[in-house]
Amino acid sequence: MSEDIFKKVISHAKEYGFIFQSSEIYDGLSAVYDYAQNGVELKNNLKQYWWKSMVQLHENIVGIDSAIFMHPTTWKASGHVDAFNDPLIDNKDSKKRYRADVLIEEHCAKIETKIEKEIAKAEKRFGDAFDKEQFLATNPRVVEYQKQINTILERMGKSLDKNDLEDVKALIEELEIADPVTGSKNWTEVRQFNLMFGTKLGATAEQAMDLYLRPETAQGIFLNYLNVQKTGRMKLPFGIAQIGKAFRNEIVARQFIFRQREFEQMEMQFFVKPGTELDWYEKWKETRLKWHKSLGLGDDNYRFHDHEKLAHYANAATDIEFRFPFGFKELEGIHSRTDFDLKAHEKFSGKKLQYFDNETNESYVPYVVETSVGLDRLFLAVFSNSLREEELADGTQRVVLALPAAIAPIKAAILPLVKKDGLPELAEEIVRKLRYDFNVMYEEKDSIGKRYRRMDAIGTPFCITVDHDSLKDNTVTLRHRDTMEQKRVAISDLPAIIDAEVNIKNLFDKQ
Ligand code: ATP
Repeated sequence: MSEDIFKKVISHAKEYGFIFQSSEIYDGLSAVYDYAQNGVELKNNLKQYWWKSMVQLHENIVGIDSAIFMHPTTWKASGHVDAFNDPLIDNKDSKKRYRADVLIEEHCAKIETKIEKEIAKAEKRFGDAFDKEQFLATNPRVVEYQKQINTILERMGKSLDKNDLEDVKALIEELEIADPVTGSKNWTEVRQFNLMFGTKLGATAEQAMDLYLRPETAQGIFLNYLNVQKTGRMKLPFGIAQIGKAFRNEIVARQFIFRQREFEQMEMQFFVKPGTELDWYEKWKETRLKWHKSLGLGDDNYRFHDHEKLAHYANAATDIEFRFPFGFKELEGIHSRTDFDLKAHEKFSGKKLQYFDNETNESYVPYVVETSVGLDRLFLAVFSNSLREEELADGTQRVVLALPAAIAPIKAAILPLVKKDGLPELAEEIVRKLRYDFNVMYEEKDSIGKRYRRMDAIGTPFCITVDHDSLKDNTVTLRHRDTMEQKRVAISDLPAIIDAEVNIKNLFDKQ
């Protein structure tokens, strides 16, 4: 069922000019995608909403745009050269490759589904009297399932920490995990695989320097921490944000733009006084969840997933998960990264990266709380959640992309009813009037009904139809995407009506 929905999402994204497979005429490049004419507008609007919220509306947060290439020692210091690995395993029969940890996590997710079924059953049975907390804590079946999950994840976490890959394989065998595609249990050993892409800088082979394409944007912020703090005269607590490309040689990338080899991150590192980081961590968790919910995709579609197994740099970490068509998955990570990164860069560079605190007269390395959201995953969340097939009162169907109006690629389409009698000229005049404030589009091809459907499918909130009466009384028909209601309005009222619906301030009001 949800697989069908996901297929529809992918084909809609292509058919309506949102996302294309990269290098399609050469049969495509795996897990690399291009944003098309409508996709890039939607993506830019999401970036703009994030940038405004995080940078321009916070007095103590500034933005940067650091280079993708960085000195190779950066990745030694950050731990990526030694520890940015995924454990991979191959199936000898199907020749398919998997992440060993993901196979185990998916096994746990199946047990989790059993718990959810028990909850649903009990909810039905007990009705309003149902107490979920109590049920989770006392129902013997649920308690047993939860125990199984905890034991499995704890053992996997410990083995991965110790790099005991034999035990990870043993766990897969003990749990009788099969290749999800073919059912075969004939596995190879588990191996570690570094996710960074290497490249070279320099003209001749002997003098070339080995570089990496950055696997996260965060390190560009850490390396500029002192420059920004000094030149911006920033006082703790303060943040540095950036939006940029990141690259990971993902082993398994089969979920459209959810897991790509080249993707975009929107990250913010918040520098705080040591000891205050966990308060800030809580505050940013709350702020970021509210931000996501303000997009109106449904509050029930989000949940936190706190990490039990922490990365080498963190003392607290959570994911904001979203209900994608293929289940709840990570959309944003929020990490309390301690002083790990700045300290490591101090050590490897030999330069001090400290903050002088005027109040206490002491210097120290700040602690950091990070918020990191994948722009492509945000795009997928918004896009897949907005795609609907609706049955209309007259028995026909329509496909509508009910995007939040403020981030829709095109805000209004101006449509002359016919291609003659001066209607195109008046329509063009309306376009000229609106286009500096709104991204609008002129469209004269096909019947008016077909044009409406096409605009519904790309999520355009308004259609403005110019007809013969328009020439006489300067009014047009304004059609609303969601209600399909049509009303006659004066051309001079259009800017105010459109603005009331599509202004990005509407989203801020919901934060
Ligand atoms: P995952 O566990 O799904 O691999 P991660 O925990 O490695 O993700 P982070 O390193 O925390 O991800 O990166 C921050 C954000 O960047 C993620 O929340 C996600 O939205 C995004 N992201 C990470 N990897 C990819 C990818 N391969 N394609 C698209 N977005 C990604």
